[in-house]
Amino acid sequence: MTRSPLLREACYIDGEWVKADSGETIDVTNPATGEVIGTVPNCGAAEAKRAIEAANRAWPAWRAKTAKERATILRRWYDLIMANQEELARLLTLEQGKSLAEARGEIAYGASFIEWFAEEGKRLYGDVIPGHMADKRIVVLKQPIGVAAAITPWNFPNAMITRKAGPALAAGCPIVLKPAAETPFSAFALAVLAEEAGLPKGLFNVLTGKASAIGGELTSNPIVRKLSFTGSTEIGRLLMKQSADTIKKLSLELGGNAPFLVFDDADIDAAVDGAMASKYRNSGQTCVCSNRLYVQAGVYDKFVEKLAAAAAKLKVGSGLDADTQQGPLINMAAVEKVEQHIAEATGKGATILTGGKRHALGGTFFEPTVLANVTQDMLVAHEETFGPLAPVIRFETEEDAIAMANDSEFGLAAYFFSQNLSRVWRVAEAIESGMVCVNSGILSTEVAPFGGVKQSGLGREGSRYGIDEYVEMKYLCLTV
Ligand code: ADP
Repeated sequence: MTRSPLLREACYIDGEWVKADSGETIDVTNPATGEVIGTVPNCGAAEAKRAIEAANRAWPAWRAKTAKERATILRRWYDLIMANQEELARLLTLEQGKSLAEARGEIAYGASFIEWFAEEGKRLYGDVIPGHMADKRIVVLKQPIGVAAAITPWNFPNAMITRKAGPALAAGCPIVLKPAAETPFSAFALAVLAEEAGLPKGLFNVLTGKASAIGGELTSNPIVRKLSFTGSTEIGRLLMKQSADTIKKLSLELGGNAPFLVFDDADIDAAVDGAMASKYRNSGQTCVCSNRLYVQAGVYDKFVEKLAAAAAKLKVGSGLDADTQQGPLINMAAVEKVEQHIAEATGKGATILTGGKRHALGGTFFEPTVLANVTQDMLVAHEETFGPLAPVIRFETEEDAIAMANDSEFGLAAYFFSQNLSRVWRVAEAIESGMVCVNSGILSTEVAPFGGVKQSGLGREGSRYGIDEYVEMKYLCLTV
């Protein structure tokens, strides 16, 4: 395969492509083959500190620009991302594993945040509030918070970056990014295109290396005013603790355990389609993937039979093959977690309808799996599997379904299918999650607020609310 023109093996700090101070590198592998694709610098706290200081130097000139001037550059970045969609998608599949069709979709989805926030930056309105005394005038300004830091995961190597960088830059904030070690090339490729779009140096910095050392600097350095993190609840909790000393503003998009409910009055074929889309997207490796399916007794048998038939048809293979629908899992630990969940459930009486084991292709390929006769006391009902496993639990009443759906410390996405309008409202209001998707399996879009409640996180990304995460309100009290 020819080398991608967008592949860079250096960090992007203060507008320069640089190596680690130590000269050390880390290998990046293709999860479909185990082959090394390239290497990236193994940076630490010192390089992170330099990136933060560069960002801070770049800040005054960037915040002084008009929103329209910033938007013009961001729009060019968006155009370049879309013009390079195919190349970016190939690079993404190479390091992450998802099918090319999904990778192309992610590039368009990722780019949409740059376009959206370029426009939203122009509408970052303040407020004029009627004074509390005859001689008082009250004005609220919205100002960029300052240097933002971002730490992103491997499951969406492009979009998890743009939905932080888009609003930060549009609001007038520079950003320092640490992408996941598994998928750094998509991040560097974005930097190549940002540079080409004319983004001034120091505004978008990307560095790879020791997560704890870089994360330690990003959370302890007082220049950083904002941290946006997407990843596990465990690391989110750690970063929140580390950010406490300098009281940073935080956005945390953490783990999910999405329930997927199918009621007796649902359109069953639509529910099966929705379950396939929400469960098996990215081989089950998204934080909004349905993790546990609850199906009402009257339609349970029909639903599981159709779901198992659809899952059995999924084409598993290298994401680069044109007809692949399911790529490999990211690493062996991910495979072992799926195996552990299946073994625990079957040990307690669950039955495998399709799949259930590693795929004949070997490596980290896993068969799309459906488990029936699952119960609420099994691990799969409480822990995020993050793999192609659909455990289906039977329920009798709406109250039981809601109680089981809410029986979790997480609250990111939830899905349900019903054609009864009253039930739709009742259930949507009762479910404890930041996002509820009714009669469909896909909900992500740049125009809507994405985020969770409970231990799924803090703050929202996308939509007009997403830019608020990068501004501070300033209240002016004028005596006239
Ligand atoms: P996942 O299980 O999806 O890999 P993680 O929360 O482990 O989720 O990783 C998400 C991001 O957080 C990655 O960029 C990873 O490198 C980073 N990360 C992991 N540990 C730390 C840490 N101690 N400090 C800062 N970042 C970290």
